[in-house]
Amino acid sequence: MSMKQFNQPPLTPQTPSPTTSSSTHPSHLRSPLPLWEDSSWKCWRCNTAHPLEHPSAVRPLGRMRCRLCGKAAHYGSDIMNIDGIIPIEGEQFMVSLPIGDAGPPRTLFVWVCCRCGRSHVRHAKNVNVPTEQGMERECEKETLGKRLINAVKKLAHHSDEQEEEQLNEPSEVRKLFKIAFDKECKCHQLACETCLKFKIEAEGEWVAQEIGQKSSRTIPRNCNCDGDMEEMER
Ligand SMILES: [Zn+2]
Ligand SMILES: [Zn+2]
Ligand SMILES: [Zn+2]
Repeated sequence: MSMKQFNQPPLTPQTPSPTTSSSTHPSHLRSPLPLWEDSSWKCWRCNTAHPLEHPSAVRPLGRMRCRLCGKAAHYGSDIMNIDGIIPIEGEQFMVSLPIGDAGPPRTLFVWVCCRCGRSHVRHAKNVNVPTEQGMERECEKETLGKRLINAVKKLAHHSDEQEEEQLNEPSEVRKLFKIAFDKECKCHQLACETCLKFKIEAEGEWVAQEIGQKSSRTIPRNCNCDGDMEEMER
């Protein structure tokens, strides 16, 4: 008997409104996050709670900057009433999809710039290069599979239809995608250790952090957590 209502169905494909042509721009599409009417965040400095301002496909949490003290949200800011948020650290992640799932992953990766408060979604890139082991296994499977099919065909005179069915069986390899927090915010700040970063995992998808790939990008560049120089534009 909850009074809460989804203001949007979570994790569903975006359907652009047919009213105007400009509505197809990502900034007019809904946030991919499972937001509620009362989803909000709290300023880490003055403890004021704020509703989300204009969340969209481009800014999944809108712009998170305190209207009272001017501070942008960071890792210490609480987010209220958004289901499944898991804080993360690091810049590089891998997502492994369930067998037979071609992707893209439904796990969401979000960061909020600690300089200006703009929120961002990071999209996954398909990792096309299979591991040597994986390739070997694939080859083994293929030849073994073909041999089996031929043997069965000879013995049982299986129809071509049935053979095709067997050949089209989904791959038993989990597809791999990579997510990197390596794109600059509009204010030219890269995601740093102070920035608020989180994931919302989709069922059946495995997320792993890539370790040992620390680059110079982990060092905050021009990190200005005060964000006082930034104007309040979205
Ligand atoms: Zn504040
Ligand atoms: Zn920024
Ligand atoms: Zn930062």
